[in-house]
Amino acid sequence: MRVAIDGPAGSGKSTVAHAISDRCGMTFLDTGAMYRAVTCECARLGIAVDDIEAVTRVAEECRIEFGMSDAGQTVFMNGRDVTREIRTPETDRNVSAVSAIPAVRAAMVERQRGREGDVVAEGRDIGTVVFPDAEVKVFLTADPEARAHRRAVQRQGGDTAKDDATRTDADEERRILEDLKRRDQLDSSREASPLKPAEDAHHIDSSLLTVDEVVSRVIALHPRLGELERQASAAQAPEPARPAIEPKDDDAVAAPKAEAPKANAKREQGPMRPFAGNTPDDYYDHAIADWPITGRAFLWLVIMVVGALSKLLCPWRIEEAHKLWDDKSGRMLIMNHCSMVDPVILVVSAYMHGIKCRPIFKSEFNSNALTTWLFSRVGAIPVKRGTADIKAVRRAADALKRGECVLVFPEGTRIRDDERHEIHGGFSLMAQMAKAAVQPFAIVGARNIKPVGALLPRPFCPVYIKAGDKITFEELGVKRRKEQVETMERVAMDRVFQLRDELRAEHPGRL
Ligand code: C5P
Repeated sequence: MRVAIDGPAGSGKSTVAHAISDRCGMTFLDTGAMYRAVTCECARLGIAVDDIEAVTRVAEECRIEFGMSDAGQTVFMNGRDVTREIRTPETDRNVSAVSAIPAVRAAMVERQRGREGDVVAEGRDIGTVVFPDAEVKVFLTADPEARAHRRAVQRQGGDTAKDDATRTDADEERRILEDLKRRDQLDSSREASPLKPAEDAHHIDSSLLTVDEVVSRVIALHPRLGELERQASAAQAPEPARPAIEPKDDDAVAAPKAEAPKANAKREQGPMRPFAGNTPDDYYDHAIADWPITGRAFLWLVIMVVGALSKLLCPWRIEEAHKLWDDKSGRMLIMNHCSMVDPVILVVSAYMHGIKCRPIFKSEFNSNALTTWLFSRVGAIPVKRGTADIKAVRRAADALKRGECVLVFPEGTRIRDDERHEIHGGFSLMAQMAKAAVQPFAIVGARNIKPVGALLPRPFCPVYIKAGDKITFEELGVKRRKEQVETMERVAMDRVFQLRDELRAEHPGRL
């Protein structure tokens, strides 16, 4: 049995192929590591990557071996451990030039084909050249930003499969993104075995899937893989406990089948407990309805107090509010953003009418323990701006699927002028993942509370919000998923600004 997994750098091929080999008891073959090992050996010998003859000689004469340590796969080149060296930025830079040499490829492919037994191999040309008859062929892709983020996390020793909210250095992530794009371009445009999906490959986009989800999809592609998984799991299962008294043959009962531990089993989400033991993650990940009574009581207390204060200090009104209150479906609420009052009004008003609403906030606010505690207790979800924060996207999509509303300010920060600023399109992706609608809102008057240059806020400034009609993905009339996301982003934000202009016309002088 052969499983071929191809795709661009950072799409998760290695992690997925490794997990499949674990779950199905197959041999794992990381072909990228072979080209990387040749690249390292050339560097060690001082051979330039454009010296085709010398590089080819290294590829043909070298000995590449794989081993296993507690930290994972190890790679040896002519007996030398190069596990770390093959992942350095220098190797990243040079490996595509080495792998583009036809004679180097021929030498590697010959070794790869020599692998016996059940093999799961990952690379660029497995389904097209190395194992063209593979029973299962997968072409794994992911958004470039998600791929760069994974690589950045890997470089600092983390693992996005375990925690995809890990912080990375933004500059480093940008550099990795550029290198990935450059490498993808080289790998797909070279003459010898360019990176491309086999005609019969199954395409899987891993941007928003967990490793377990991708692996399960691959295993579901062929019955033999399911069989291998069952066999591997039976082989790992602990011996069934021996009964204290051996049953006689005639009252023999089938021993209960022990559950084999799964290598990548997700952490079970236990129920939350009142008073103790709940982390901010628990509050982000659990439905508000499942919070302990103490958590819900605190949330209501905040809603009442903050709601009353805001009504008193900046009397607010929501126009066409029935559009917010009458619809109980989980949907994405978006609005322009000019002051701290904006989320308060929408969230308070939603709760007062039985709608659970979770605002998304920038993770910079989580810089101290108090704000982290407070924001998590009011149902807010943090997002790391400027990176592919898949965890935040997932959390928001899960909330929408549960029927909660999610509030996003796509401008990302408070805007004090009328310029069109950069729009953070994550809201559209979150809504699409959850198959939820997007409802636009606009706010005016909040900027008058503290005009630019004023030292103190002015009390009793009226604030108006207007609710728009929700927009569904179906009504956009666009088929491709990526285009759907982009169109929703544009259409929904246009609608926000249109609502804002309508409100300004109705309430002259309010900004
Ligand atoms: O898998 P990884 O990203 O480590 O691969 C490193 C490089 O090796 C790729 O950018 C590509 O140039 C080359 N490669 C290849 N064919 C394969 C596997 C990797 O050309 N089957």
